Amino acid sequence: MSKGLHHHQQRHQGLNQFGKELIRRSGAKCELCEASGVKLVVFEVPPIPPEPDIDHCLFVCDTCLEQLKTPRKRDPDHWHCLARTVWTPIPAVQALAVYLLRYLENRADWVPPLLDELYLPPEVASWAEKIEL
Ligand SMILES: [Zn+2]
Repeated sequence: MSKGLHHHQQRHQGLNQFGKELIRRSGAKCELCEASGVKLVVFEVPPIPPEPDIDHCLFVCDTCLEQLKTPRKRDPDHWHCLARTVWTPIPAVQALAVYLLRYLENRADWVPPLLDELYLPPEVASWAEKIEL
């Protein structure tokens, strides 16, 4: 087994151990679009820490995951959900939501007013600046 693969598996196990806590925190819903009754996967919000850290993790559905990973597939209609979920008290979710809203800012006319009225704790604001996807 290569070292890289071994490391990958360890990380995967590390993330899986967060599953129970994320189910509790999210109410078994996608933490971005609130889809329920769907498969949820753990998403790590960059910058990725050396060791898996639940404070960097959230549960997302396949639709959100695909659009996170593939910017050209990001559909402003899907991300209307962020108008609600961007007010989350969970820093990782909020930082990621703000990153997405900034990405969509020039692509949907409902986004700029939302960003204007948003209050962000300083640590979330600086985290959102560091996200690259
Ligand atoms: Zn979702």
